[in-house]
This record gives sequence, structure tokens and C-alpha cells, in this order.
Amino acid sequence: MKTKPLKVVLDRWVKAFALLDLLKGMALTLRYVFKHKVTINYPYEKASASPRMRGEHALRRYSNGEERCIACKLCEAVCPAQAITIDAEPRSDGSRRTTRYDIDMTKCIYCGLCQEACPVDAIVEGPNYEFAVRSREELFYNKDKLIDNGDRWEALLAENIKMDEPYR
Ligand code: SF4
Ligand code: SF4
Repeated sequence: MKTKPLKVVLDRWVKAFALLDLLKGMALTLRYVFKHKVTINYPYEKASASPRMRGEHALRRYSNGEERCIACKLCEAVCPAQAITIDAEPRSDGSRRTTRYDIDMTKCIYCGLCQEACPVDAIVEGPNYEFAVRSREELFYNKDKLIDNGDRWEALLAENIKMDEPYR
């Protein structure tokens, strides 16, 4: 086995004896104690999210309460994960609306293509990222759940879409 040069051994011994590494670490800690904190006390404090945040999905309505979705199925066609299932039929007034709108959130990869494809800003990925659940079944979203999400987040969704308008 190769022996280490005496200078290296002495250096290490002096460093260990004088606790140099420990002092360096403490000096670094001290330097950051008085700086602005970058960590937050989640979940009591939350960081701001980008208006383009791709969180939990929602189906939006117009301000008169009418569903935006016109059942064109573009979102279903574009979804690379084939997570969206739509059934539709015409109403008595001739308008076309969905009778079923399901998203299998266990398949979704949050790519945002459904949102991009939608001509009427009906399906969107909202700002909510706190939707962890205990079972897979709870991640099979149906139309009621998606509409409910839309109603709950509409104010923020509308604001985010407006902010993004100049870039679309
Ligand atoms: S975000 Fe992407 S993967 Fe998820 S439902 Fe929309 S298109 Fe499909
Ligand atoms: S959500 Fe948009 S893209 Fe999907 S079916 Fe409805 S109108 Fe068409």
C-alpha cells in the first residue's frame, strides 16, 4: 500500500485538531441566519403559483351558468394519454352538450394539450395542486366533479386566462 506524504498527513491532523471544517460550517450557518428566508412554512404558508400552472382540471361555465363545453371532442382526440372520455347528444334546442365527461387522472400527464385544444376555454388546468387522495377511484373524475372544480376556481381561472391572453 502507498503511504501518504508527511505534509498531507500533517495538514489533515492540524485541520482536525483545530476543528477547521466545523468552524467553516458554523460560519456559513451564521451568514445565512440573518438573510431573507427562502423556505416557507407549508401548508400554513404557500408560494405564489404561475398563471400557467397546470394543476387539477376543471370545466368552466359562462357567467349565465351555461356550460362552455360544446362537446367538440378535440380535447379527447388530442390527449396523448387517452385519459378523456366524452359522450354527447344534442339538446332539445339543438345545441350540443356532453352527457359524460370523464378524466382518468391516474393516466393524465398534465401536458396541457386538452386546454390548448379547447376552442371555448371550457376544459382548463387550474391552480389547485392540493388534490392528493387515498384511493385510485377518487382520481376518476366525472363531469360533476369537473364542473364543481370550475365553479370553485372560476374567479382565479378567469384572471389567469386574461393574463395569458396577449401570448396566445
Ligand atoms: S393534461 Fe394532457 S394528459 Fe392530461 S387530460 Fe389533458 S391532454 Fe390528457
Ligand atoms: S372541453 Fe373544449 S375541446 Fe373538449 S369537448 Fe368541450 S369544447 Fe371541445
